[in-house]
Amino acid sequence: MITGFIGLGAMGRLMASRLVKAGFELLVSDLVPQAVSELTAIGAAARNTPAQIAGEADLICFSLPNSEVLSEVLTGPDGVFSAVRPGTLLIDFSSVAPNVSQRLAKEAETRGASMLDAPVSGGVLGAEKGQLTIMVGGQAEDLERAGSVLKELGKKIIHVGPHGQGQAMKLVNNLLLGINMVGAAEALTLGHKLGLNPQAMAEIIGQSSGASYAFSAKAEKFIFAGHFGPGFAVDLQYKDLELAVTMAKNLTVPLFMGNQAQQIFEVARAKGQGREDISSVIKLYEEAAKTLVRKDQ
Ligand code: NAD
Repeated sequence: MITGFIGLGAMGRLMASRLVKAGFELLVSDLVPQAVSELTAIGAAARNTPAQIAGEADLICFSLPNSEVLSEVLTGPDGVFSAVRPGTLLIDFSSVAPNVSQRLAKEAETRGASMLDAPVSGGVLGAEKGQLTIMVGGQAEDLERAGSVLKELGKKIIHVGPHGQGQAMKLVNNLLLGINMVGAAEALTLGHKLGLNPQAMAEIIGQSSGASYAFSAKAEKFIFAGHFGPGFAVDLQYKDLELAVTMAKNLTVPLFMGNQAQQIFEVARAKGQGREDISSVIKLYEEAAKTLVRKDQ
């Protein structure tokens, strides 16, 4: 079986690496040449366009930034749909709008191919260790066919429902992640101003009722270390909150906290932090409170 992987960013490159190391024959593509050469160095083969991959692969994975890019990669002039062969299975690990997933899955079906939305949670660490949570929308028989790939990447693989439901679940999860990240930054800043030792906050809150994934994953490794490099980008979190907020408006569901969190990430973007990890929202609080929440400050 030949497998394709399109989108080799913070998540995709780690997921694709795992597949190569597990023995999958992998064809890869990304706009960034360095991302591609990292994969070819360990045994993957490069292709220039999504169409070239579709012409050869039996199964194609995607890890792309948003709905617009995913749509372009599938439906654009050199896109997957221009060359996809009947029977091909498409697995989309990106976080995109549920209605976009539904539309693309229908389009795949008209070409005799099938598609699963399979957004992931667990961050770069989960991607590296093959311990992602994978939320799947689509047909049960396609999920079964995807088994060997998904098992290599995830520790928890859940069939949520029909096309788009994996994405709906992911949006709800990431609404909570965004809110929790802002909450953790807010609380850590106050704690620091109160003179609490960062290590003590990490140990005690990490084991107490204030704990969350955002707190546990980001306090020590990112905030206390002053390291806001690759992780889960502010731009991507903003996109997920935008999708949640839009869906909530359509359904007349108030999102008091979600809208607030999105505005805070908007300020971070305006300050040029769009490519930084979401934990960099702490900088907004630090600036306002005139403090630095670092291990040795
Ligand atoms: P990223 O921006 O680091 O990577 C996206 C990759 O897609 C980049 O390498 C980019 O060059 C490539 N790309 C863009 N347009 C392309 C095109 N036309 N053809 C081929 N490649 C193209 O993003 P990421 O952090 O790896 O996230 C990928 C997806 O997974 C997003 O939808 C994100 O919301 C989701 N996600 C990310 C995390 C995380 O912790 N980073 C966690 C869970 C889910």
